[in-house]
Amino acid sequence: MATLEIHDLHVSVEAENGPREILKGVDLTVKQGETHAIMGPNGSGKSTLAYSLAGHPKYTITGGTVTLDGENVLEMSVDERARAGVFLAMQYPVEVPGVSVSNFLRTSATAIRGEAPKLRLWVKEVKEAMERLQMDPAFAERNVNEGFSGGEKKRHEILQLELLKPAIAILDETDSGLDVDALRTVSEGVNRVRETGEVGTLLITHYTRILRYIKPDHVHVFANGRIAESGGAELADKLEAEGYEAYTKGGATA
Ligand code: ADP
Ligand code: MG
Ligand code: MG
Repeated sequence: MATLEIHDLHVSVEAENGPREILKGVDLTVKQGETHAIMGPNGSGKSTLAYSLAGHPKYTITGGTVTLDGENVLEMSVDERARAGVFLAMQYPVEVPGVSVSNFLRTSATAIRGEAPKLRLWVKEVKEAMERLQMDPAFAERNVNEGFSGGEKKRHEILQLELLKPAIAILDETDSGLDVDALRTVSEGVNRVRETGEVGTLLITHYTRILRYIKPDHVHVFANGRIAESGGAELADKLEAEGYEAYTKGGATA
């Protein structure tokens, strides 16, 4: 069972007037098979946590530890993290000009599995996964994220998730910009991956609506660069009713 352990994580970014601390001591443990929702107001540092775990160079780790099965994640390159099984679906996915979805997926799968998937089986695997996500087969030949609509970007992320089956998946606002039908399709994808019991999911979201479709095992309220409260699924209901005000009083979050 893969376990991601974050302990007292502090992260800064370089702002105009010097370094600015964004994460102020995050503690979190995510095990394969578990679904954790991280919820919080805009500007509380949720994306910073996601990027820091994925190894984005803009974020400087100033304290704390992150390990995957005891291995130091913070010492790994972005590629090494991906191979170790840490997957990030970004809030704002980047375009990869000149690389088709189908080539991108096969290259990623090859890197993660350590060998190229057999072509015929792979084509079948991709086709079936795309059908489940109600994606047009022609989509596989488009360049990654180039001109993708919000919904297409998110479906593409869930397609990666289903095909790559990472140990730990970090989904940053996968629900933003989706209409109800797309939200349901994307949620079903996350739930299918969850049912394998092989993936630990960190579902980062600002709104509670995705939690109507994906029932988290644990909910964490993120405010001011740290986890302010943790609980079960019922905590999301409380947030839906009461908002984040109780957690942001006395400190600006943006
Ligand atoms: P969230 O995802 O919860 O909305 P973010 O992690 O995107 O929050 O941002 C947290 C805070 O850090 C915000 O105040 C944001 O402006 C600031 N921040 C994030 N990245 C940078 C950066 N590269 N440079 C300066 N400030 C940043
Ligand atoms: Mg935000
Ligand atoms: Mg964000």
